Amino acid sequence: MSKKINVICPYCEASEEHPAPADYAPRYLTCGTCGKRFIMEPTASGHDVYRDGEAPCCSDPDCKAIEMGAGDD
Ligand SMILES: [Zn+2]
Repeated sequence: MSKKINVICPYCEASEEHPAPADYAPRYLTCGTCGKRFIMEPTASGHDVYRDGEAPCCSDPDCKAIEMGAGDD
């Protein structure tokens, strides 16, 4: 049985069902209504959503990936 959560798109405010996240890592979702990509970050009380590029670095999957790879040069 897979849990689902309702996520509100920060662009068009459409509510969509997505699989419940298994951890607190932020992830990108694509809105099925407007087709735009946004960030969903699970929190203790539910989840936060951010428009692509507007998330704080610690909540942005891309930014995190860059930070983690940055120590290599
Ligand atoms: Zn949307």
